[in-house]
Amino acid sequence: MIDHAVNLARADSPFRVDSLLRAAAWTGCLWIAAAGSIADEPPAFSGARSFKHLEAIAALGPRPSGSPGMAKQRELVIAHFQAAGANVSRQAFQIRDRRTGQPVPMENLIVEWHPERTDRVLLGAHYDTRPFPDRDPVDPRGVFLGVNDGGSGVAVLMELATAVRDLPGPIGVDFVLFDAEEYVVAPRDPYCLGSNFFARQYAAACQAGTQPHRYRCGVILDMVADRDLEIFQEQHSVGWPDTRPIVDDLWGVAARLGVRQFVPRPKYTVEDDHVPLRMIGRIPTCDVIDFDYPQWHTTADTLEHCSAESLEAVGRVVLEWLRGLE
Ligand SMILES: [Zn+2]
Repeated sequence: MIDHAVNLARADSPFRVDSLLRAAAWTGCLWIAAAGSIADEPPAFSGARSFKHLEAIAALGPRPSGSPGMAKQRELVIAHFQAAGANVSRQAFQIRDRRTGQPVPMENLIVEWHPERTDRVLLGAHYDTRPFPDRDPVDPRGVFLGVNDGGSGVAVLMELATAVRDLPGPIGVDFVLFDAEEYVVAPRDPYCLGSNFFARQYAAACQAGTQPHRYRCGVILDMVADRDLEIFQEQHSVGWPDTRPIVDDLWGVAARLGVRQFVPRPKYTVEDDHVPLRMIGRIPTCDVIDFDYPQWHTTADTLEHCSAESLEAVGRVVLEWLRGLE
């Protein structure tokens, strides 16, 4: 509101400036009250800014595990989160490529906000892209950009940074970017390698008594930028008794905010990063995914099929949910 008045004053005649100032003087109390409420307003999630992040990620090209594009993306997101005030740690591991027998270096990124808070929530997304668009009817060995599938979760987390930094206690948040969710070249290649590794490390540390904090719960964001966004509830997340309340809370928040892209009905069963987090790490984790995406695993998973509005719908719901946790 204040920005708007300043712009008006700049653009308009001196008479206009004068009258604005006079109005401000006359309504001094009101003006101060309004300024106070604006200053206290917590940061909002901007779909437009999130989409800018998505564009920057897309500009890096394909980002499969171990590729130069992935290395560039890693630099980009680490710099972004560090500049916003997070602790970023790199959890390195290796897998052997089944085609070549060569080791492929992998890294999960753990982005910690308020590390002193011991009651923590995990927000995760995979940040690798599939090596090939193998569902593409024309060019299944072509270029896979993975803007929605791989880019969108990262773009939401990048935009959430400031708001989560300013999140009042007691909940601490970790963003975890998982490598190798789909380092899949042959039909029987395993999925979710990064989240498996992360969950095993976490479970082992909990058992050894060396884990300094516990995750109360987690949410995975995957394929959330589709311009025709429709997020049905994922079947594992609805069926597990410890994740069902997370689903109810998230979709409840969406209903309250009037975010119609969250459809309060179960539809698909998806083997995503939430499965190892819950089954191995024992972190109740829900998957937020729009699985109705015609461009899924094709060369057409590009920016033009994604939208800022969709990113904003998801970011707003997740942020409001975080703010409501007690
Ligand atoms: Zn995928």
